[in-house]
Amino acid sequence: MPDAIMPTYGRQDISFVKGDGAWLTDTNGNRFLDALGGLAVVVLGHANPEVAKTISEQSTTLLHTSNLYRVPKQEELAEKLQQMSGMDNMFFGNSGAEANECAIKIARLYGNKKAIETPTIIVADSSFHGRTLATLTATGNRKVHAGFEPLVKGFARVPYNDVEAVRQIAEHNKEVVAVMVEPIQGEGGIQVPDQNYLASLREICDENDWLLILDEIQTGNGRTGQYFCYQSSGIKPDVVTLAKGLGNGIPIGVCLARGKAAEVLGPGNHGSTFGGNPLSCAVAITVVDQIEKLGLARRAGELGDRMMGEFRQRLSDLNCVKDIRGMGLMIGIELNSPCGDLVAKGLEKGILINVAADKVIRLLPPLTITDDEAEQICEIVCQLVEAV
Ligand SMILES: *Cc1c(COP(=O)(O)O)cnc(C)c1O
Repeated sequence: MPDAIMPTYGRQDISFVKGDGAWLTDTNGNRFLDALGGLAVVVLGHANPEVAKTISEQSTTLLHTSNLYRVPKQEELAEKLQQMSGMDNMFFGNSGAEANECAIKIARLYGNKKAIETPTIIVADSSFHGRTLATLTATGNRKVHAGFEPLVKGFARVPYNDVEAVRQIAEHNKEVVAVMVEPIQGEGGIQVPDQNYLASLREICDENDWLLILDEIQTGNGRTGQYFCYQSSGIKPDVVTLAKGLGNGIPIGVCLARGKAAEVLGPGNHGSTFGGNPLSCAVAITVVDQIEKLGLARRAGELGDRMMGEFRQRLSDLNCVKDIRGMGLMIGIELNSPCGDLVAKGLEKGILINVAADKVIRLLPPLTITDDEAEQICEIVCQLVEAV
């Protein structure tokens, strides 16, 4: 590996030179089925013609003017997301971590305006919220914290999917201003909470005048059967963040707010040079349009159910398999022992998969995969697991 790049990633020794839908071609001309979708990013598939057309047109029209002026594409995207989410307003950045930073700043300012001295955000164990100092602190994983102490103040930790633990904090900690969770934990190993988890958190937040912040950076953009995962829970968050799939590979992140949370940030409170630029917003408009037009959220829900059904049928009885779970095209197969080696074995079989939390095979394919491609993913993944 070249030593001009900081060794922050454990990379496979392979690189891709061309993409086409759910397929990638490496430097030797071998083809691979991408069951990881560039880590939940490439929702419309690689080299999507509509996205390519938008990038091309926007690049010969206007790339950047700065946020000191009105940006029509940003306004158009915001109105679209506002309609789809039922949220009131939003701030655009360039990544998931930035979207969450904005959410954390909203919670801090919300608390400080209520004269709370140490505004505290409740976060969950095994969560993932990003790699900036505040978002790595919010992340519930010691490996992500290690060596970066002192961590940021103002976070309290609870086990995921444990409503009682949140209620207990509510009783004695009067500094809490918000709860921040993923509707389904992605990096944590596709952890799906109980059906009423979000509704219970909503209730506690309402009782205590806290903000409910949902990190939908991985679950959003149609992946779990609705455009936002929370839309299948019957509740609305006060703040929700999106990134990954929103730009199909063009960097963009957004923090949406509602009600009192939408009234917190004012002039000078936050900013981003590139955030909400015409290129990323034009692409995101295309992505959201395509997800709607092609009914990809619903398709993801149906296809995911079918794939999980097949995995359960073929794999549930194997000794090495502990659990099969997920929602839509966010699927986890948990084994009884660490299985990081399956990533390289998958490449040998022509498929890109990921292993999260050491033991969980994670699948996040493009939402545009065909029935046949879904079938191929199931077949190869089953073969990999059967060989364990
Ligand atoms: C990927 C991810 C992030 C971080 O996004 P970046 O764009 O890498 O900063 C935050 N939260 C969740 C749930 C994620 O999956």
